[in-house]
Amino acid sequence: MPLIDRDPLLLTPGPLTTTLRTKQAMLHDWGSWDAAFNRITGEVCTQLVEIVHGRDTHVCVPLQGSGSFAVEAALGTLVPREGKVLVPNQGAYCARILKILGVIGRAAVELPLAEHEPMDPAAIDAALAADPSITHVAVVHCETGTGILNPLEAIARVVAARGRALLIDAMSSFGAIEIDARRIPFDALVAASGKCLEGVPGMGFVIARREALRASAGNCHSLALDLHDQWTYLERTTQWRFTPPTHVVVALAEALAQYHEEGGQAARGARYAANCRRLVEGLRGLGLRPFLAAEAQAPIIVTFHAPVHPAWHFPTFYQGVRERGFILYPGKLTQVETFRVGCIGALTPFDIDPVVQAIGATLRAMGIPTGACTE
Ligand SMILES: *Cc1c(COP(=O)(O)O)cnc(C)c1O
Repeated sequence: MPLIDRDPLLLTPGPLTTTLRTKQAMLHDWGSWDAAFNRITGEVCTQLVEIVHGRDTHVCVPLQGSGSFAVEAALGTLVPREGKVLVPNQGAYCARILKILGVIGRAAVELPLAEHEPMDPAAIDAALAADPSITHVAVVHCETGTGILNPLEAIARVVAARGRALLIDAMSSFGAIEIDARRIPFDALVAASGKCLEGVPGMGFVIARREALRASAGNCHSLALDLHDQWTYLERTTQWRFTPPTHVVVALAEALAQYHEEGGQAARGARYAANCRRLVEGLRGLGLRPFLAAEAQAPIIVTFHAPVHPAWHFPTFYQGVRERGFILYPGKLTQVETFRVGCIGALTPFDIDPVVQAIGATLRAMGIPTGACTE
């Protein structure tokens, strides 16, 4: 048991720590037919499109559920049944896209890649050149499994030059890392309420190119995940098709207000970058080494090598840090023993120092020596 009863800080890629204002927004009940609620939905969607400067070309379709529901909806709606999707596979969330494509019966071509290197646009170009029957490319912008950042603009250019459509899982980057729809051609970009926008989990959204979405009627394998149907219903009635996650939507509206007050994407990205620097410096001081090279690292979540010591045991480590007030994340790599620490959420560098202290104290309590990294 922790010494005092308070919420732990979440150093995870979502759900994450939210502000009191965002939590307080959930203290009201809303009717799904109510004009005031539907106005909030509309305003949220307008702002989400504006974050990527997509007003002239794209629309936002919100969807009930976690981020993966929206990924599956985007793949199922925008890829026709006879389509074929190239998936550069660099980690856990790329693998999830491949799994979804298998389940929903869309042809997929995997491009296996190293998990510690940013995707090489030339490799994607070569794969597209080799198979003219590929219609779409699905990429993960920041692969949260490791924390790596991919060169989205260069990838988008290659995909567009080959005349294929791009689908982007920007779940863990949207709002914090710049994505400009005026320069980056894409048919769909998927993200969710409970990541860098610092809302609570429960709503995904797809920013879709209007013409691509318009042409997608009848593609979807599923009724609940049919984005075309969801979009046309919303357009016609201003209401969600099926029960909306009302509390999640109003919390996101409040989180977006704070996002703009903070200074939007540039300020949000800068705060996360400062958190990330402080975290890496602090844990290096304890002898813990990041898995990725600094230039490949997105300021979203950092994978660290576990200490090489017989007393290392992730569940014990997790529990020790938990008792000191912080929630970490397990590693997601199959080959190396790692753990992850998130840099996102309503946290500043001043919140990171106590995390470093808690990690150091936990390691020492486990009998694992801490000392500065020499590499
Ligand atoms: C969080 C995340 C998702 C969605 O995961 P859920 O568990 O469904 O919320 C998808 N892709 C990436 C890159 C993510 O970080």
